[in-house]
Amino acid sequence: MDYIAILQNHNLKVTPQRLEIVDILHKNGHINIDDLYKALQSKFPSLSLATIYKNINKMCDKSFLIELKIPDQKNVYELTKKEHSHVVCSKCNAIMDINLDTLSILNQAKELSHYNLDKSSIIFNGLCPKCLD
Ligand SMILES: [Zn+2]
Ligand SMILES: [Zn+2]
Repeated sequence: MDYIAILQNHNLKVTPQRLEIVDILHKNGHINIDDLYKALQSKFPSLSLATIYKNINKMCDKSFLIELKIPDQKNVYELTKKEHSHVVCSKCNAIMDINLDTLSILNQAKELSHYNLDKSSIIFNGLCPKCLD
């Protein structure tokens, strides 16, 4: 994937640190700030947590990244992609993307609540196949 073009399309300055962040996110799918910090240490030992936060916030502002709030866990970040839902393992904290028919769920929620809803964030908790063994 051409990360440089993607960063530029989002009006983000391309820096070696940002390219590395994108690469780590691409490989991990979802990652919290502490794990990202650890992953960046080998290449950028002098990079501070504050700088990483600043970069991440900027990338979220430009909708290049999404911040995902998971109950009882640190927020994780992922590259923006098509809307999707998540399953989270309550034992090992593994996170997986799933595609649900969120439109029909949203319509059902509208019907039941009479609210004017336009967004949904669905997270299921349970045990992943590894932890079930
Ligand atoms: Zn698990
Ligand atoms: Zn996801």
